[in-house]
Amino acid sequence: MALRGNELDAWDRDHFFHPSTHMAAHARGETPNRIITGGEGVYITDRDGKRSLDAFAGLYCVNVGYGRREIADAIAAQAQKLAYYHAYVGHGSEPSIQLAKMIIDRAPAGMSRVFFGLSGSDANETNIKLVWYVNNVLGRPEKKKIISRWRGYHGSGLMTGSLTGLEVFHKAFDLPLTQVRHTEAPYYYGRQDRSQSEEQFSQACADKLEEMILAEGPETVAAFIGEPMLGTGGLVPPPSGYWEKIQAVLARYDVLLIADEVITGFGRLGSMFGSDHYGIKPDLITIAKGLTSAYAPLSGVIVSEKVWKILEKGSDALGAIGHGWTYSSHPLCTAAAVANLELVDSLGLVENARETGAYFRQSLADALAGQRIVGDVRGEGLAAAVEFSADKDDRVAFDPALKIGPRIYAATLARGVITRAMPQGDILGLAPPLCLTRDEADIVVKAVAGAVEAVS
Ligand code: PLP
Repeated sequence: MALRGNELDAWDRDHFFHPSTHMAAHARGETPNRIITGGEGVYITDRDGKRSLDAFAGLYCVNVGYGRREIADAIAAQAQKLAYYHAYVGHGSEPSIQLAKMIIDRAPAGMSRVFFGLSGSDANETNIKLVWYVNNVLGRPEKKKIISRWRGYHGSGLMTGSLTGLEVFHKAFDLPLTQVRHTEAPYYYGRQDRSQSEEQFSQACADKLEEMILAEGPETVAAFIGEPMLGTGGLVPPPSGYWEKIQAVLARYDVLLIADEVITGFGRLGSMFGSDHYGIKPDLITIAKGLTSAYAPLSGVIVSEKVWKILEKGSDALGAIGHGWTYSSHPLCTAAAVANLELVDSLGLVENARETGAYFRQSLADALAGQRIVGDVRGEGLAAAVEFSADKDDRVAFDPALKIGPRIYAATLARGVITRAMPQGDILGLAPPLCLTRDEADIVVKAVAGAVEAVS
């Protein structure tokens, strides 16, 4: 059926419930209705034929770039051979088993098994269920609270929306759930005490975490969840010493550590995993996005040998684990992931994230150095943020009504480059595909600098 443009617009307004969208404004036709029809390399094309450089890789997920034939072919070949079979009671498919092995080969030391889901949110729901199950098996049913961080993003399900430390994801949903607590974000730029060094601020974060564990009662605190580098909360690398100090506290009170690597897994920071990048030794790791570069929906929980041993013990006592999805390890998705990880290796994308990332972030900082409204330029690998400030010496935020972040986003888009206005504060996020070249990095920097100049 051939679709006409204005028909699509009407159907979209009348029938399509978009995620994270102002529903009333969209139904009134006030928000852009941009229908994307194609993608090649770091560029996407909309239905009007307009090309844009996607410096946010979709939602920080199209890591190998658009239009990769190898992944499309792998999905098609698997669809013809075996489109689906479930993985319950010990069943499997070839690409799923191969993928589990590939992930463990690449994962930080001490990791043992992979459970597959479809989204970062469901993988984090799995993580929390596993943590609770572990403490039940160990005979300590009161040890169930989960500590997350303000500014953390872990999904938008019931538990994961609760773990997310951004109020917009709680508002009017009766979240967070009662088992969740939030502690200080490792957001050095926003610290209250300006005299603190990064190490001192990290120590203060660890001290606050310890106070919280003691106030709640260590016998009630099961796990701590954190992204190695904060993502949706403002693309903030941890201050120096942060993870070492946090892990020392967790070890003292026997609190499990979940590293949410949905963004940082598979190369974004210039290391295969953010945990390796920052010396984190997690008990459980969440993966999604870069696992398939979003060519198919797939997530996973990587379970350490330590946790796996307890799960095995649980099965002997309780029988088969009552957890799984129809589409856990869907063969089309795992076939896509195998092809994707092979591309990440053969194209050297982890190295490119490190090297082109360093060039990109330095060029960005240089281009914005003289700008009055730029308070901070930060990042790691191919993840970067520009934070705007009404007074950069005192880090005074702009009045939100001025919509500085969204205006700079729009001005950058008008220059042909897609970025993201992050949901909290005036922060422009950049997370291009990991295949970005230096020439493409120059295009992004020029567009951002031009937009900032125009809005200042
Ligand atoms: N965890 C992190 C760190 C994320 O960035 C995201 C999504 O952006 C999620 C979890 C949730 O993933 P999904 O949107 O696939 O449910």
